Amino acid sequence: MSSFRLGEDEGRSARLQAMLKRRGFFFPSYDIYGGVAGLYDLGPMGSLMMDNMISIWKRRFVSGEGFLLLDSPSLAPEAVFANSGHLEKFSDHMTRCTVCGEPFRADQLLEGALDNPDALKEEELEKALRENLVRCPVCGGELGPVEEFNLMFKTFIGPGTGRPAYLRPETAQSIFLDFSLLFRFNRERMPFGVAQVGKGFRNEISPRQGLLRQREFHMAEGEFFFDPLTSGYPPFSKKADMEVPLVPGDGRGKQVRMRLFDAVSSGLICSEVLAYFMGITFDLAVELGIPDSFMRFRQHLETEMAHYARDCWDLEVLTVNGWVEMVGIADRSAYDLERHMEGSGQDLSVLRRYREPLMKEQINIEVNMKELGPLFRGAAGEVSDAVSEMDPSDVEDILGSGKSLKVRISSGEVEVPRSAVSVRRSVVKVSGERFIPHVVEPSFGLDRLMVAILEHAYSEEEEVGEGPYAVLRLKPEIAPVKCGIFPLMNRDGLPEIAGNIDMSLRGKGLMTHYDASGSIGRRYARMDEIGTPFCITVDYDTPKDGTVTVRDRDTRLQKRVAIDVIPETLSGLISGSLYFPDL
Ligand code: AMP
Repeated sequence: MSSFRLGEDEGRSARLQAMLKRRGFFFPSYDIYGGVAGLYDLGPMGSLMMDNMISIWKRRFVSGEGFLLLDSPSLAPEAVFANSGHLEKFSDHMTRCTVCGEPFRADQLLEGALDNPDALKEEELEKALRENLVRCPVCGGELGPVEEFNLMFKTFIGPGTGRPAYLRPETAQSIFLDFSLLFRFNRERMPFGVAQVGKGFRNEISPRQGLLRQREFHMAEGEFFFDPLTSGYPPFSKKADMEVPLVPGDGRGKQVRMRLFDAVSSGLICSEVLAYFMGITFDLAVELGIPDSFMRFRQHLETEMAHYARDCWDLEVLTVNGWVEMVGIADRSAYDLERHMEGSGQDLSVLRRYREPLMKEQINIEVNMKELGPLFRGAAGEVSDAVSEMDPSDVEDILGSGKSLKVRISSGEVEVPRSAVSVRRSVVKVSGERFIPHVVEPSFGLDRLMVAILEHAYSEEEEVGEGPYAVLRLKPEIAPVKCGIFPLMNRDGLPEIAGNIDMSLRGKGLMTHYDASGSIGRRYARMDEIGTPFCITVDYDTPKDGTVTVRDRDTRLQKRVAIDVIPETLSGLISGSLYFPDL
C-alpha cells in the first residue's frame, strides 16, 4: 500500500524534493548560471533509476511483446513535421501579460475555474479569461490576446539558414518514416510493433512543475501497426477480464470500473488492440511501483484530441499535483503513414493477402508509339500519357462506337488516330490488395512516471532528531542501488571482507554502495533515503563463520546469510523469486 496521502501537508512534499536533490535524483540544469525553466539534470541516483525504468519498459515491450527496437536522431528536417501536421498543429494557447510581458499557457490559468480548459479554442479561452477576471499571476497586470504558439524547437542543419530542421517533439515520427524498411525486416508480417526510447523536446510556454513539465524529457513509445479489417486481436483474451477505472470522454467526468472486454463490446474503447495496450500499460505502471488504486484511464474529449488521434486514453496517476497524465495511448489510425506517403511520394502501403488468389479481369490501354511519333513529334509522349490516363472502358467504348478519340495536351485538344490505340483484356491472378496499416501508440513520459513513483514510494516514519525518518520504498528492480555494504568497524580485517563482497557483487553487474563511515544506523538511513532495498553488514562473526547480516529495508528484518550464497540470494530477492522473511 502506498504511503502517499491526498491533501497532505506541503512540508512533506518540500522535504521529499529537498531529499531528492540532496541524494542526487535530479536538480535544475545550468543552475550556476541561474538555471533554465523546464530543464533538469538527472543526478547519479536519478540516472540509475531511469536506466532501470527503461530496462523494465524494454523488457515488457521488446522482449515481452516482440516490438522491434529503433534508435533514430532527435533532429529532423522540416519536411517531416510539415507532413506529420506538427508544424501546423502542434501548439498550445499562449497569452502574455501586457504589463510585465510574462508568457502563460491560457488554459492553465483557467484550471480549477473550468473543467478541461485545454479543450477550448482561442476565442473561447479569451472569453473565459475575461469572464473569470483572470490577471497575470506574477504582477497582476492585464492579460493580452490568446494566440497559438508552436511547441517545436527550430534550428538549421549545416551552416547558414539553408535547411530548416526541428528537434523531435515525439520519437514516433522516425518509426513511421522507416516503416517500409522495418516491415521488410519483419519479413512482411503484420501486425507488428516498433519501440523507441529517447528524448522528446517541447518548447513549453511556462514550465513550472518540475519534472512533470519539461522542455526536454525521456519518452518511451511503441507504435503497433495492424490491419484495421482484421477483426479482433487474439492476445486481447489475456487482458479481457482485467477491470480498470475509466473516465469516458463524454464530458461528464464520471469514473466507472469496467472489464476491458465490456469497454470494447460497448464501443467505449474503439478496438481490442487499443484496449490490449491499455491493459499492458496499467500492468507496467504497477510493476514500476504505482499502486493501482491511484491510477485511472481518462478518455480525451473530441476537442482535446491531438491532430493525429482518433481515440485516446491517458493513464493518469494521482500525485500531489492532482491527476497527471503519465502515458497517452492513442489510436492514430492510418494518419501518419498516409501523410508521409503523400509528402514523400513513397509507397507505404502493404499487401493484404487473400486467403486464395483471385482471378481478376484487367483492361489495359495500349498505344502504338510508332504511329504517334511521326504524327505528333515532340508532343507524342504527352499524347500517349493523356490516352493512358483515360478510363480503359471509356476508350473501349469510343473505339467500338466509331467516334473520334480526342485528348487534351498542353497545346490544346488533339485527335488521336483510332488505329494507334487498342484495348486489351486479360485475366490475371491477384494475390491481395494494398492498404495502409493503422497504428495504436502507447507513449510513456518516463520523467513523469519517475516523479510519481518517487512520490508514492516516499514514506515518513517516526521523528528522529531534526525531522521524520525518510524511506523510499522503491521496488528492488527500480532502486538505483540494490545493496549497501558495510564493515561494522573500519579495522580488524572487516573492510577487506566487505570490500571483497562488494567487488564480487559489482562484478556480477549489481549496483552496490560501500559505506564504512558513521554508525550502522546512519548508514542504513542513508540507504533508506535512496531506496536501497538490502544492506549487508560484515561483523565480528563473519571471519568466524563466513556469514553476514542482510537487512531488509521494508520489514527491517535481519538474517544471517553465508557469503558464498550472497549473489544468488540478492538476485532472487531483487527479481522477486525469493521472499526475505523466508530466507
Ligand atoms: P503526448 O504525446 O503529449 O501524449 O505525450 C506523451 C507523454 O509524454 C505524456 O503522457 C507525458 O507523460 C509526457 N510528457 C508530455 N509533455 C511533457 C513535458 N513537457 N514534460 C514531461 N513529460 C511530458
